[in-house]
Amino acid sequence: MTIRHERLFIGGEWVPPSSSATIEVHNASTGEHIGTVPEAAEADVDAAVAAARRAFEDPQGWSSWEPERRAAALERLAAELEARAQEIGRLVSMQNGMPIALSPIIEGMNPVGTLRYMASLLPNSPIEEETSRFLGGDLAIRYEPMGVIAGIVPWNYPQTLSSFKYAPALAAGNTIVLKPSPETVLDAYVFAEAVIAAGLPPGVVNIVPGGREIGAYLVQHPGIAKVAFTGSTAAGRWIAETCGRLLRPVSLELGGKSAAIILDDADLDLSKIGQALFSATLINNGQTCYAGTRILAPRSRYAEVVDTFAALASSLPVGDALDPNTMIGPLVSERQRDRVEGYIAKGISEGARLVTGGGRPPGLDRGWFVQPTIFADVDNKSTIAQEEIFGPVLSIIEYTDEDDAVRIANDSDYGLGGSVWTSDPERGRRIARRIQTGTVGINGYIPDPAGPWGGVKNSGLGRELGPRAITEYQNVKTFYL
Ligand code: NAD
Repeated sequence: MTIRHERLFIGGEWVPPSSSATIEVHNASTGEHIGTVPEAAEADVDAAVAAARRAFEDPQGWSSWEPERRAAALERLAAELEARAQEIGRLVSMQNGMPIALSPIIEGMNPVGTLRYMASLLPNSPIEEETSRFLGGDLAIRYEPMGVIAGIVPWNYPQTLSSFKYAPALAAGNTIVLKPSPETVLDAYVFAEAVIAAGLPPGVVNIVPGGREIGAYLVQHPGIAKVAFTGSTAAGRWIAETCGRLLRPVSLELGGKSAAIILDDADLDLSKIGQALFSATLINNGQTCYAGTRILAPRSRYAEVVDTFAALASSLPVGDALDPNTMIGPLVSERQRDRVEGYIAKGISEGARLVTGGGRPPGLDRGWFVQPTIFADVDNKSTIAQEEIFGPVLSIIEYTDEDDAVRIANDSDYGLGGSVWTSDPERGRRIARRIQTGTVGINGYIPDPAGPWGGVKNSGLGRELGPRAITEYQNVKTFYL
């Protein structure tokens, strides 16, 4: 059965698209065609931004509501999404290959948690604070919503990454135009249904499915107050340049090539740490920006670390993303599989030792599968250690001592995630402080809405989430009283 949508969600309604262009969606596990949705054209983006602006400027509208009233609306949206978590998970799994054992929890429930967290921040987020002037007299500082936010997201965690944008943006009183990736548009329709069911005012949320061109048009649209982008470093760099020229605020969550540092005192018993190690390195078939894809192993335990990762990788059931036993599903598309296979070939040609995987799993001749693959004896300067592969491919790199581990971890153009594995959490924190990155986990890694999210170097600019997430979507105005 294929899903067919003929309208776009703009201004709180289902409206006919302005062009007949469509986006065709495929099942990553089978290659089958599973859906068709309209592709937004420039006129649709104009309509979406105009609707969002009307909603923003309505004197009795969303941006004028008391924080408690907005918090209640976010709670309602969270409840509607929670009721649809299974459906969303299933659609995401079909489109991008995320195993169904994970997708209702990750893609279904992360947005629920993010909304509830933002709603919980609102009662303590001042709109106006009075204070004394330093030089005498009084001041008032007012935190105002910015206007219409453009939220542009990739296909790997489409609902989670959308929520990182709309939840704080809406909490602050902004309105939003979201542009999902063409690979994952079906879940965006379920999200729109939740927005309607939650009774958000028309125009507060608008969705324009489309590719790079329509994203670029949205970024430059004169009606946009801020751009919140997650995606590749290449696209992020263009968006940063464009926003620089326009003097438009922007946040960029980009690629990564994070290090998982295994210390010499780490417990490598897979029955104890297998799940955490999997989550930190291979989750979502390696299509995870913060994954620790460079495994840094001490010389004294190098062979043991290689054996541990080989055992982990070869124990993971590979299969259809909708099979509840699957831990490694397919990659999102044929193009992505070609890319990952190209990196595997490059790793071999550059002299890394292929320990396990490296090919297509036997018996899975439809869909875009690649075996979980472990390379050992990897030089940190080599291509597979420096470039983001975005598939189930890990590189194990030897280090001599702690200083060497930190040096290698930081010898990267990226700085997004990372982890330190040790029996001594204090030692782990000491090393974690020296890693140039946005987030780092000690013996594990599950992002949380209370933790600011983002990167340094080529991994991006700005932070999402965390206790100050709402401030990122506010302008500050000072009143001299
Ligand atoms: P991509 O940059 O190709 O596309 C991301 C989104 O941006 C898509 O919606 C795409 O249509 C749009 N887009 C592309 N070029 C654009 C442009 N010039 N102007 C406006 N919009 C544009 O990335 P992708 O391949 O879809 O996603 C994978 C990348 O996302 C990886 O590099 C990954 O590391 C990164 N990512 C980062 C984070 C993070 O939090 N830092 C999270 C998830 C994914």
